[in-house]
Amino acid sequence: METPATAPRPTPLWMDDAPAAPVQATAPVQAAAALPPSVDVLIVGAGYTGLSAARETAGAGRSTLVLDAESAGAGCSSRNGGQVAYSIKPSYEILKARHGADLALRICEEAHRAVSDLRSLATEQGLDCDWRPRGGFYGAHTARHFTAMAARAENQPRGLEQRVTVVPKSEQHREIDSDFYHGGCVYHDEASVNPRRLTLALLRRAIAAGAQLADHCPVAAIRAVRHGFEVQTARGVVAARRVLFATNGYSGPLSPWHQRRVIPIGSYQIATDRLGVDFVRSLIPQGRHISDTRRVVVYYRPSPDGERIIFGGRASLSERDPLVCVPRLRSMMTRVFPQLRSAAITHAWAGWVAYTFDTMPHLGQRDGLYYCMGYCGQGIPLATYYGKRIGQQIADLPEGRTALDGLAFPTRPYYFGAPWFLAPSVFVFRLMDSIGI
Ligand SMILES: Cc1cc2nc3c(=O)[nH]c(=O)nc-3n(C[C@H](O)[C@H](O)[C@H](O)COP(=O)(O)OP(=O)(O)OC[C@H]3O[C@@H](n4cnc5c(N)ncnc54)[C@H](O)[C@@H]3O)c2cc1C
Repeated sequence: METPATAPRPTPLWMDDAPAAPVQATAPVQAAAALPPSVDVLIVGAGYTGLSAARETAGAGRSTLVLDAESAGAGCSSRNGGQVAYSIKPSYEILKARHGADLALRICEEAHRAVSDLRSLATEQGLDCDWRPRGGFYGAHTARHFTAMAARAENQPRGLEQRVTVVPKSEQHREIDSDFYHGGCVYHDEASVNPRRLTLALLRRAIAAGAQLADHCPVAAIRAVRHGFEVQTARGVVAARRVLFATNGYSGPLSPWHQRRVIPIGSYQIATDRLGVDFVRSLIPQGRHISDTRRVVVYYRPSPDGERIIFGGRASLSERDPLVCVPRLRSMMTRVFPQLRSAAITHAWAGWVAYTFDTMPHLGQRDGLYYCMGYCGQGIPLATYYGKRIGQQIADLPEGRTALDGLAFPTRPYYFGAPWFLAPSVFVFRLMDSIGI
């Protein structure tokens, strides 16, 4: 291994494997061509949510146009860590206190279904996303965290059990060549994907169902008219009977109501240079993705070819240049793996995830406009699942109903899209992590 001679490339590693979508070759709307004057359904945002929804609306016979300000998947969907896990943040107990036992159970069951549906798409229906069912390891940052996570693993709510193995510190080298953790838990049903390939596979499915995609076409304004909406885009006005916001952490001023409800938070990743398959396997012997119990999130995994470590985390709150975050991420990585102190970093990138005030995703309708967003950094299964469901709702299909229907989408006073409260919270979280509470 050598110290980096050149600066990392500010692009996701995933683009090396599956370069930018040859959209013009696959989509009927050519870059310079006019958009259709009217459609049944117009979807703003071509990530997992928008593309999954488009497949349902187009498949149900509704003319469907997906617009993205950049290229398809340019948001989080081609930038993430590729970790597929059970992804609803509040525990069953918290949901039960909020919504009662019945709805809490249905919400958690649906979160399990989101993972199993994606598994079935990948393994039974041939969705080309490089599905690797290796499971996930969660490291305990303190001995107290280990006790709590082991107790949770052994007392899972009935009907919501996951296959978990508790790994004491004495056995943790089976999972990771590091003494950083105080033991941990393996969740066997988790998997990794190549996020870019997942985007392209969902894009192909949407187009095969009849949807049209126009990229580099930002939506500037939406106006309610008698039979739907007039959507003002960079390439002219399109009349749409129904409109879906699938903009997640990239929800800007287009809809102030949504902007007041999602909290964009930067998530950052680096990839090491090729380290050799044997060396990477010595660091993460089971090839699982890894995260831990710290409040300020980190997540990492071997690259799909097994040659590199991909390491991510909340290295900054608002930095837009991913290269600025490289030293901090590198230091977060070498705290876990001192063996990587001299590893070169070849790629660095970032994206905006969407948190919500109740840490739940939300979907529904507001003033006749549909929305689906707020996956709190774990949208691979959730965006694919709820994107499908909101598409079915837009197409008036009864199977589109979800356990989240009708839940209020909360905001807070004085929040208008710029999360002024994050800096003090993250400061406190970092402090708590550093002193191990
Ligand atoms: C670094 C990083 C790591 C992550 N790791 C994981 C992980 O390991 N596991 C996991 O489950 N999740 C992870 N996530 C989160 C996951 O990627 C997202 O939850 C998911 O991709 C959201 O998909 P989406 O389609 O809703 O939004 P996005 O993919 O973000 O798509 C939104 C799109 O809306 C477009 N848009 C916005 N405004 C407009 C407009 N006015 N006009 C036209 N288009 C517009 C944007 O250009 C963008 O393409 C990670 C995210 C990041 C950034």
